Formats: sequence, structure tokens, C-alpha cells
Amino acid sequence: MNEEKFVEVKDLRKVYDNGHEAIKNVSFSVKKGDLVCLLGPSGCGKTTILNMLAGLLNPTSGEILFDGKNVVNVEPKNREIGYVFQNYALYPHMTVLQNVMFPLTVGKTKRPKEEAEKIAKKYMALTQITDLADQKPGNLSGGQQQRVAIARALVGEPKILLMDEPLSNLDARLRLKIREEIRALVKEVGITTLFVTHDQEEALSIGDKIILFNNGVIQQDDNGQNFYLEPRNHFVANFIGNPVIDNFAVKVENNEIKASDFSIKISDLDAQRFRKQLIDGDYTLSVRPENITPAENGEISTEIVDVELIGRERILKFNHDGQQARSLVNLEVPIKAGEQVKLKLRLDRIFIFTPEGERIY
Ligand code: ATP
Repeated sequence: MNEEKFVEVKDLRKVYDNGHEAIKNVSFSVKKGDLVCLLGPSGCGKTTILNMLAGLLNPTSGEILFDGKNVVNVEPKNREIGYVFQNYALYPHMTVLQNVMFPLTVGKTKRPKEEAEKIAKKYMALTQITDLADQKPGNLSGGQQQRVAIARALVGEPKILLMDEPLSNLDARLRLKIREEIRALVKEVGITTLFVTHDQEEALSIGDKIILFNNGVIQQDDNGQNFYLEPRNHFVANFIGNPVIDNFAVKVENNEIKASDFSIKISDLDAQRFRKQLIDGDYTLSVRPENITPAENGEISTEIVDVELIGRERILKFNHDGQQARSLVNLEVPIKAGEQVKLKLRLDRIFIFTPEGERIY
């Protein structure tokens, strides 16, 4: 068994009947027992990938290997996967116990009734729905239905768990609670899990690693920290982080990086962080709002036009080149709207991108 590549996708491509190429030669792998988030904006192809893994959709070309075995021609029911749908897809006429037991009453995972009930009860205990055994789904809250769907996906003891935006129908507070529970549960069961989401915070909080897609292409395949600190390109830098990253149009000439109202000497940057030579021309300088903060010797002189409180922190908003930019500070920083301030960029945390989005620094 190859634990490093328990799930492996090689040169996977999907062209829909209307000619739309939703997935373009995608390759990635998932380590046994990992929880991996497939992340990206609406329409980037996340569900298309998940459905190909599940066998609900045929790839145009490429391979999907589970535990080293190509499953492209294997029927969904024989792939040993559990699937949690976005809308849960519970059977409304069945009780919770009957719903959870269902996979154990049909097909390859069929078991004698007593044994099926025993296994179902084990997963109902794990998902904390034991008390709901006799209820019908219609009487349950969204969070409870979610637990039933997860218990039903796990009961056949699949090798791989696939979840398509499983938290999207829950309110904000419940999402936070259930996402922690899902992570704890899949780690306890030890099941390899692929979790689709468009929510970068959700992905950062629960994923052992994240695979970020855009337009059917992988933008970065990495752990959460690297997504944040070392984005591979401008799309990644913009997609990850809340509040969003600040972007400044700059021109590089005479060994300086010049924005409309500040400049930085190239010699002040960390030579180690250059991925390529910075030749003269136009670029985007990007910096996360927590790395642009009030300081006497700051290079940007500006007025704070608005202040937003976000719990422990405050966002100081200012205008730059007609666009709004942000500085993220502690709650205690007493700056108010209308104040003139100097803001300093943390130079070892800035990024420089080409107009095509390639990262240079
Ligand atoms: P969302 O988060 O909105 O569900 P997604 O990332 O899951 O988006 P997919 O549903 O995988 O995206 O769709 C990827 C692309 O393929 C989209 O541009 C979509 O319009 C297109 N697409 C999806 N299903 C079909 C289909 N049956 N025929 C043609 N195009 C399709």
C-alpha cells in the first residue's frame, strides 16, 4: 500500500458534452488518513472532480487511483467511498436509524439485520445522534440532518469519504461547530477525506492540506500555512486571507519599487526571497493587512477614512490610487476615522507579482 498516494489523480480531464473543459489535466495525491480540502470559487470545477472520484461522472481522460488501483471503470457502488451531498439527500420516509442503516441493507455492504443495526448505532453514537434514532429527517434541524448524512456515509466503512460543501446549509455559528466535529470525527475514524468548499477560512481551519483550483487548473497544492505565507501566484494571494490582501500598482526602475505615493529600495528587500530577477517594468505589490501597520517611520502617509471592528481586531481603511486598502491592527490601537497616519510595510512579508500573476518576490 502506498500511504503517501492513497488517492492519486493523474492528468485528469473533463470536457462536458457542450465542449466546456471544466477540468484541465489535473494531477494530485492524498495521503492516507488526511483530510484534504478542494477549494476554489464557484464554477472552478470542485464538484466535477468530486463526482469523477465518486464515479458519478466519467472523466474524458486521465486516471483515478484508490490505493494504487485505477477505479475509472469501477462502478460507484464498488469504489468503497462514502459521499455526503450538499443537501444531505436523506430518505424522508425513513427514520434516522433506517437512513443510517440503509447502505448495510443493499449491495456489497449488505449485512444481516442485527449486525447492520449494531454498526449503525456505533456511527450514530460517534456523530451524536443516538437519541434521534426514531425521528424522521423532516423533524430534524440542519445540523442534525448533517450528522445523519455523515453517519450514513461512514456506516459502510468506506476507504474514502467525499464531502461536497457539507456545511453550506448551516448558519454561521453551527458551521464553526460542525466543522470542528467533522475534523475530529474523520481523524477518530482515520478515514481519508476529500472535502469540497468555496470558503477559504473553512479550508484553512480543517484541511491537512488544501488544493486550490481556478478555471479547472490547480493553483496551489499545499498546507494552509504555505498558502498564507507563500502564495504561488496572485490568484492564490487574493483568494486566501480575510480581510483580503492589499494590492498596489507599482513600477520598478532605478533599483526602486515606486507606487503612486511611496517607494521602496530594492536593496532593502530580502535577497533570499526573490524567485526570479526583478527586471524594470510594471508589477503589483501585495501585502496582507496585518503587515501594514501604523508607525512613525512608515512609508505611506494617508488618512484613515473608515474603521471596522472585527472582534479582537480593527481594520483601518485608507484610499490608495482610488482604491480602498486596509491595515489590520489590535483592538487597542486608538486611531479613528479622519486621522492622518503613517503606515509601514513589513518588507519581509510583501509579495511582488507580474501583470500575469506570477510571483517574483
Ligand atoms: P460550485 O461551487 O458553484 O458548485 P464548482 O467549483 O463545484 O462550483 P463545477 O460544478 O464542478 O464547479 O463546474 C465546473 C464548470 O463546469 C462550471 O463552469 C460549470 O458551469 C460547468 N459545468 C458543470 N456541469 C456541467 C454540465 N453538465 N454541462 C456543461 N457544463 C457543466
